[in-house]
Amino acid sequence: MQTPAGKPLPWKKRSLNEIDRIIVHHRGGPGTLDGIHKYYQKNRGWAGIPYHFAVTSTASGVKAYQLNDLSSSTWHARNSNRRSIGILVDGWYDAQWWDGGVYRLVKGKDSTVGDGKLGKLDELITHLSREWELQQKIKLEVLAHKDVTKGTGCPGIFLSDWCRSRP
Ligand SMILES: [Zn+2]
Repeated sequence: MQTPAGKPLPWKKRSLNEIDRIIVHHRGGPGTLDGIHKYYQKNRGWAGIPYHFAVTSTASGVKAYQLNDLSSSTWHARNSNRRSIGILVDGWYDAQWWDGGVYRLVKGKDSTVGDGKLGKLDELITHLSREWELQQKIKLEVLAHKDVTKGTGCPGIFLSDWCRSRP
C-alpha cells in the first residue's frame, strides 16, 4: 500500500489471524497526513505514518485511505500494536460534545464532526469486521486508543465515547 506521499512503508510483518481488534485514533492537532508521515520519519526515524487507515475530508468529500498493509505490524498503540488495525480520524475530538442527538462544535476549535467522517469510519469498521468474521472467524473488538495505552487522551473524549457506544 502507498501513503498519500507515495512511499511504501517497510514495517515488520504479521499474519492476519493475529489481529483481533481495531484501535481508533484522532489527529488531535494541525497537519496533513503527508506532514504526519514526514514527522514520524524525520523526528522518530520510523518507517512513516503508523496507521493502517485514515479517514479525512478532501475537496471531493470524505475518504478513507489505506496507508499501510494490514500484514504490517505498525507502532500506533503501545501494548496492542501486533494485534490491532489502527484507524486515524482526521479531527480533534476533545473539542466537541454530544447534545441530545447532535454533535456540536466547541466554538473556536478545529472540529468537523458533522461532515461525514464518523459515517465513513463506521462504514470502514463494518467492512473490516465482516471481512474478519468471514476470513479469520474472529470478531474484531473496537477500542479507543486511550483504552489500551495509558497516558494518552487520544482519540478525544468524544470519539472515545463513540467507540464505547458501538454495539
Ligand atoms: Zn492515538
